[in-house]
Amino acid sequence: MKTILITGASRGIGREIAINLAKEGYKVIANYNKSEKEALKLQKELQSEGFSIEIYKADVSKTEEIKQMVEYVLNKYKNIDVLINNAGISDTKLFTDITEEDWDKMINTNLKSAFFASQSVASNMIHNKNGCIINISSVYGMVGGACEVHYSVSKAGIDGLTKALAKELGPSNIRVNSIAPGAINTDMNKNLTKEDIEELKKETPLGRMGETKDIYKCVKWLIEDEYTTGQVISPNGGWVIV
Ligand code: NAD
Repeated sequence: MKTILITGASRGIGREIAINLAKEGYKVIANYNKSEKEALKLQKELQSEGFSIEIYKADVSKTEEIKQMVEYVLNKYKNIDVLINNAGISDTKLFTDITEEDWDKMINTNLKSAFFASQSVASNMIHNKNGCIINISSVYGMVGGACEVHYSVSKAGIDGLTKALAKELGPSNIRVNSIAPGAINTDMNKNLTKEDIEELKKETPLGRMGETKDIYKCVKWLIEDEYTTGQVISPNGGWVIV
């Protein structure tokens, strides 16, 4: 069975993906940073249902910690077949209020992490002539979001990484794709008011916010697919159509 490393998997979209892939029988290594309690809960929950998952603590905004995590996984499992760069943060601020510190935190967590995690797994995937990298981007990477300029830049960067890497690694049979979700019901959107959510639903042709399972389904399809690379796939209910 394939070995899958997923970052930021203690809650939200990452958790949903990790749980379901573990239940499908994949060997899943779920990265977390601060949320040890949630990560252990996830592991226990799966174990109680007869499934297994490995959890690994690393701050993906720190390249050294990514390298150590990948080295650990490769030593133990020999291969990484699928890397899912999911960890991310968001921040809502006026453009004129964004500090250099805000910028560095955003770019290091959302973009630099995906770049160096992909670089860390690349040699193994190239050697195996097989691999799949899935970068969790956002609709804001495609169309931009007001008061989320640094977030939008980080996600546009992710899409650039996806496209360039797909071209470079395609000849080694490594597929690289972005999934760019619309508004998904997770902690990242916990600041939305009831009115905001109603407004969002009205603006969305399919009439609802996304759920984490909507993103999992897309991930599962990309893992099994053999001919899609360099694409930005956007499960967003029609909220954004480009
Ligand atoms: P979330 O806040 O629930 O989850 C984010 C996860 O990333 C958490 O588990 C968090 O601990 C982890 N993380 C953050 N910084 C980290 C670090 N330095 N090292 C390791 N892990 C770290 O939010 P979510 O909605 O599940 O977001 C998952 C991904 O989906 C993010 O990349 C986000 O940008 C993207 N996304 C979310 C939405 C949405 O509406 N929820 C929309 C578009 C894209």
